[in-house]
Amino acid sequence: MEIGTLRIVPTPESIQELDRLGDEIAELAAHLDAATARLLDLIREFDARGGWGNGFRSCAHWLSWRVGLAPGAAREHVRVARALGTLPLLARALARGELSYAKLRALTRVATPEAEAQLLAVGRAGTAEHVERIVRGWRRVDRQAEVREAALQHASRALHVYPDSDGTVRIKGRLTAEVGALLVQALAAAREALYQQRRAPDAATGPADVPEETSTMEQQQADALALLAETALHHGIDPGAPGERYQVVVHVDAEVLADLDTPGQSVIEDGASVPAGTSQRLACDASLVVMRHGRDGRVVEVDARTRTIPPAIRRALHHRDRGCRFPGCGLRFGQGHHIHHWAQGGPTTLSNLAVLCRRHHRAVHEEGYQLDRQPNGELRFRRPDGRPLPEVPPPRQVRGDPVKILRAQHDAEGLVLNARTTTPGWLGERLDVGWAIDVLHPLAR
Ligand SMILES: [Zn+2]
Ligand SMILES: [Zn+2]
Repeated sequence: MEIGTLRIVPTPESIQELDRLGDEIAELAAHLDAATARLLDLIREFDARGGWGNGFRSCAHWLSWRVGLAPGAAREHVRVARALGTLPLLARALARGELSYAKLRALTRVATPEAEAQLLAVGRAGTAEHVERIVRGWRRVDRQAEVREAALQHASRALHVYPDSDGTVRIKGRLTAEVGALLVQALAAAREALYQQRRAPDAATGPADVPEETSTMEQQQADALALLAETALHHGIDPGAPGERYQVVVHVDAEVLADLDTPGQSVIEDGASVPAGTSQRLACDASLVVMRHGRDGRVVEVDARTRTIPPAIRRALHHRDRGCRFPGCGLRFGQGHHIHHWAQGGPTTLSNLAVLCRRHHRAVHEEGYQLDRQPNGELRFRRPDGRPLPEVPPPRQVRGDPVKILRAQHDAEGLVLNARTTTPGWLGERLDVGWAIDVLHPLAR
């Protein structure tokens, strides 16, 4: 007799009963996988149509907030949903309950349209563990190919600038991915600067020749490149220390800081005007010296009121808020937002401060999102149209028995699922990953 362990002696009846239970689990799992395919379809469409763009950092952040998925699982759902957009065979196998979501997740890490059929065969034949191992081996081959590819890409970097017959200049080139990203970011920043110049409240200062709305994207890019060239030459082609690269100095009329509707100037150091909301945001948490300008533009007075949040309050603030307080965000690093702006007399006290990340600080100052603190100390966010944006969305409503509904839907679609639908074709033989990849991977020899 064993002590501390309860031995259950199986009877023929209990074996049958457990088999039925196991079959039921397997069948329901197939139904859930099929339903997951539909869920991923919806996520892909929601993501592509930017449904999360109303205040969320990404589709995954929205998903985590709205559905309650853990952040990592939310990111995976979005990644897999996007990948399935180009992998119809794998998508169909999940929709038919033939492939589990776990296998599909692993396969989509390496799947390309070219290798999709081979990987689907791996998913059908192997257990979830086999699939994981094959995907790891597949990635090694991919990585080696990637290293070769990256070296080739770097060697093939080039920029051709040559005059055309009519005197215009043509540009053609190829950049590595990270240099390309740098260029795209710089062009975007330059386009934004041009856009804001044209939107300057004082129409006399800005060239009103080509309004942004009527220029094509290609034309705007050309203007942006010109601005980049001018800026680089003006500043002596100095990339600067990492911390200084993206620093911006704003000169702002004190009245503008206090009241958005006061006509006045907010000007970035290089002369571009910025919206009053932007200067309020930049001043909200800044070691800032306010320079008052007279009507002739000279600095009249340097205001002694600097609004740095004292270190003790900042520590307490970050300890209390633990990152961005915007619903669904929670990013660790953020800025101290004055709920009632200091320029309007708001105090730099814990109750008047809330941590917001850069993205959401912008949402509050420049995109119309509203934030106040209720008498009970809770923060309340509202959308630009005034509707509340709760920290936790209202509970999801499931009407009726979800399993019955799921079965009925799948039956109606002619999808016949049973306890064997997801069973792998594996018969117990040893898995030779190296051999499998040699046979399957298009780049392995
Ligand atoms: Zn702020
Ligand atoms: Zn945030």
